[in-house]
Order: sequence, then structure tokens, then C-alpha cells
Amino acid sequence: MGHLTKKQIESFRQRLLAAKREIEGLLQRTVSDAKPVDLNLPIGRLSRIDAIQMRSMSQMNRYQLDIRRQQVDASLADVAAGRYGLCRSCKGPIGLGRLEVLPESPFCVDCQESFEGT
Ligand SMILES: [Zn+2]
Repeated sequence: MGHLTKKQIESFRQRLLAAKREIEGLLQRTVSDAKPVDLNLPIGRLSRIDAIQMRSMSQMNRYQLDIRRQQVDASLADVAAGRYGLCRSCKGPIGLGRLEVLPESPFCVDCQESFEGT
């Protein structure tokens, strides 16, 4: 086993499952928010531009939620496969503090920084 105890992994698994439910709820909401803007409908004080901007914002959120859901799913698969908490790039352990902030972290700090770096 890696650097995490069974108890720690189980508590992360619970958090991942909760995050998955939350994301799926949000995704269902953004689907209904992202309906095409009907330019012929009176939309009160909201200008049409605002409505279009809000729509693209909710599509952006949806995109981010989709990515997060994939990360959560991948982490749950890692739990099932007994390799949760290992970096998907270097296979080294992901720090416990990092997992506590973001249980679905796919990479260790070093790899994440090298992806985000220049
Ligand atoms: Zn790494």
C-alpha cells in the first residue's frame, strides 16, 4: 500500500462520493440554465447581452464541472484499484495536505507545478 492508511482512504472516498453527487446536481442545474437564449422573449431588466453572457458563463461552469467530475471519477477508480493518492504522472505519493484540500488531485505538487510552469 501507499502512504495512506485504509481509514484515510475511506474518508477520502466518502468525500469523493459526496463531491460526485454535488457535481452531478450542479451539472443538472447548468443544463437547464444553458438553454439557448430566445432573443424574442422579453427578459425584463436583463439586457439581451447580459442573457447571452450569462449563458456562456454557465457553459464555462459546465465545462469546469465536467473536468472535475472526470477527476473525481478517476480518483474513485484509483481507490477501487488500490492506488489512490499516487501521482498520475510520476507515480509518487501526493501529499496528504494536498489531498485534504482537493481529494481528486490527479498530480503531486511537483508535477502540477511543472505543468503550470513556463
Ligand atoms: Zn508527480
